[in-house]
Amino acid sequence: MSDDALRGQVALVTGASRGIGAAVARRLAESGASVWLAARSAEALRTLAGEVGGTALPMDLSDDTSVWSAVDRLRDEVGGPPDIVVNAAGVFSVAAGAEVTVKDFDRNLDVNLRGAFLVVRSLLPDLLEAGRGLVVNVGSVAGRRAYPGNAAYSASKYGLRGFHEVLGEELRGTGVRATLLEPAATDTSIWDPMDPDTDPHLPDRDEMLRAEDVAEVVHFLATRPANVRVPVLSLEHA
Ligand code: NAP
Repeated sequence: MSDDALRGQVALVTGASRGIGAAVARRLAESGASVWLAARSAEALRTLAGEVGGTALPMDLSDDTSVWSAVDRLRDEVGGPPDIVVNAAGVFSVAAGAEVTVKDFDRNLDVNLRGAFLVVRSLLPDLLEAGRGLVVNVGSVAGRRAYPGNAAYSASKYGLRGFHEVLGEELRGTGVRATLLEPAATDTSIWDPMDPDTDPHLPDRDEMLRAEDVAEVVHFLATRPANVRVPVLSLEHA
């Protein structure tokens, strides 16, 4: 899978301490990109950064100052915005609308919607000035379809889709591109609290996508010619 397609490019990947974000960071680094790995777990970021030759960029997406200062550090050290921004950080909790706690509802919106917004907002002026760049927002099948028990998560992912769709229109002709990637269930630690293999309402882990499948599609997006826009891409287990 190693190639040089992204040599010379800089990628910022949030959620890179594990799961989909970690797989994306690995895949982009395998293609020669200089990868900046963002999440809260600094030690996990440093370990993966060491493996892939990237840079750990600890940040808490629910804390504005943390995001702005981490992005400032990246911009200063790189000398400009990254070429590729992948918003893969996220949280997931299952509770019906009648039961979801306010705290959990806020947490889903804070990380999945507001966190992605903060990263985009902090980098977009520079990307527009440079007239280049790719933003991949990791949404979800639950940002388009209603699943009982997904009240907070769906609110955040439908919201992300709204933000993304407006962004897509605003970016036309600017040289900056954005893709909303909507994976179906993917086998990562996000499912651990639900133990899906024992719940008849949830897909078994071996029927889920793998994080590497999603990463391969991010690599596909990052290697399209600059004149090709991919506004939305859904991913399902075959
Ligand atoms: P995961 O394995 O639980 O990883 C989540 C990542 O988000 C971790 O790196 C975590 O790092 C980071 N994160 C969580 N809260 C954060 C915060 N406050 N600040 C910074 N980083 C934070 O989940 P995943 O399955 O890879 O999910 C990645 C993305 O794909 C999410 O947006 C999710 O909604 C989406 N998605 C997942 C599936 C699925 O079935 N797995 C399907 C569709 C879409 P720290 O804990 O170290 O901060």
